[in-house]
Amino acid sequence: MTGTSSTSDAAASQACLASGLGTSSSDPSAGNLRSGNLQVQHEQGQRQVFCGLAGIVWLHRKIQDAFFLVVGSRTCAHLLQSAAGVMIFAEPRFATAVLGDRDLAGLADCNEELDRVVTELLARRPDIGTLFLVASCPSEVIKLDLDNAAERLSREQQGRVRVLAYSGSGLDTTFTQGEDTCLSALVPVLPEAAAGTDALLVLGTLPDVVEDQFRRLFEALGIPSLHFLPPRRGSELPPVGPGTRLLAAQPFVGGTAAALIDRGATLIEAPYPFGIEGTRAWIAAAAEAFGISAARVEAVTAPAAKRAAVGLERYRAQLAGKRISFMPDSQLEIPLARFLQRECGMELVEVGVPYLDRRMMGAELNWLPSDLRLTEGQDLERQLDRLRVDRPDLTVCGLGLANPLEAEGLTTKWSIELVFSPVHGFDQAADLAELFVRPLNRRDRLAF
Ligand code: SF4
Repeated sequence: MTGTSSTSDAAASQACLASGLGTSSSDPSAGNLRSGNLQVQHEQGQRQVFCGLAGIVWLHRKIQDAFFLVVGSRTCAHLLQSAAGVMIFAEPRFATAVLGDRDLAGLADCNEELDRVVTELLARRPDIGTLFLVASCPSEVIKLDLDNAAERLSREQQGRVRVLAYSGSGLDTTFTQGEDTCLSALVPVLPEAAAGTDALLVLGTLPDVVEDQFRRLFEALGIPSLHFLPPRRGSELPPVGPGTRLLAAQPFVGGTAAALIDRGATLIEAPYPFGIEGTRAWIAAAAEAFGISAARVEAVTAPAAKRAAVGLERYRAQLAGKRISFMPDSQLEIPLARFLQRECGMELVEVGVPYLDRRMMGAELNWLPSDLRLTEGQDLERQLDRLRVDRPDLTVCGLGLANPLEAEGLTTKWSIELVFSPVHGFDQAADLAELFVRPLNRRDRLAF
């Protein structure tokens, strides 16, 4: 294992960005499932997604005293650097401990090497409060036990640094699951909430500016105690216990929600805070869980909702009647499709999701049209065939598919941009719609 790598090589990273990471393309088990009134077509085959390491890009910005050490290959290092776009002169809060040929061949003691790399890193960076060891495909293939390593290193640090491990491997996941596995690793170390304490815990990374907006709204409602997971600092972990009401801000944190429920929290079923309607319903569901009246919710949210409606109007005029398809990639597809159809007047051609977590998505499914073509999983070639027949006005897809589809004359939107951008809440509703208007405008400007 060499020291931490932070060099950039965008070309090499394309190997993992653009390759299908699934299994074979034939699928004898593909079939229809029902979810409420919706028919869900289940597909299995070649997939085209980023891996969970991508989550580090937004998590390291959010948890300001955390450091993410990927234990992986040069390809993992290249992917991370390319996705994050970090300048080589800055020392960021993530790096890769690169497994060399001797590590992969089992000729070196990887644990010894890892301890050396971590000790050097922590000596150089005393600002690190929480260190995440992030497993990758190569570390999982050689069965390097990072959970044990994290425990060992935590003991050695004697409380100075908290060391935790999670998997960002791309073998069997989609890219937003990296956040879920990271937050799940935090759940066992969350403090126990004092008995009889009622609190709202908002789950899923939100940009600080959006978090502040929601904090103001929840405080105006009179929510007694409010926490966010992840917090802005690893040293400020929220308490959890039987009085904790859990409100998911992102649909891809189902594993963390399950772990919090195991610790006594109660999940509030709600749509996601995208657009005016989704944000209002999300806040109303939290208010109801605390016995706050609908009239109070209306009084607190009405000014922001009214502002958002004005901002949204001009983009609605440009989106209404346009046809859109979603390739399965980020897990945001269903709430975004719901927003675009109900509030922007777009026509949904096909909505694909990597996996359908019915516990996390129940309230959203009720808002989708019953004749929607909804697919779960992916068989890439079959999906591309359908797309070429459908030829929607806009296709939301992963980075690796966007350029080839543009070359075929289809207009695309990168789904990962929707995870990086502030898009939640009333004040961002117009910005969210504008993200879908931009590629349509670009197409019009380029048309001869
Ligand atoms: S974790 Fe796996 S999929 Fe992700 S960059 Fe590393 S090798 Fe590629």
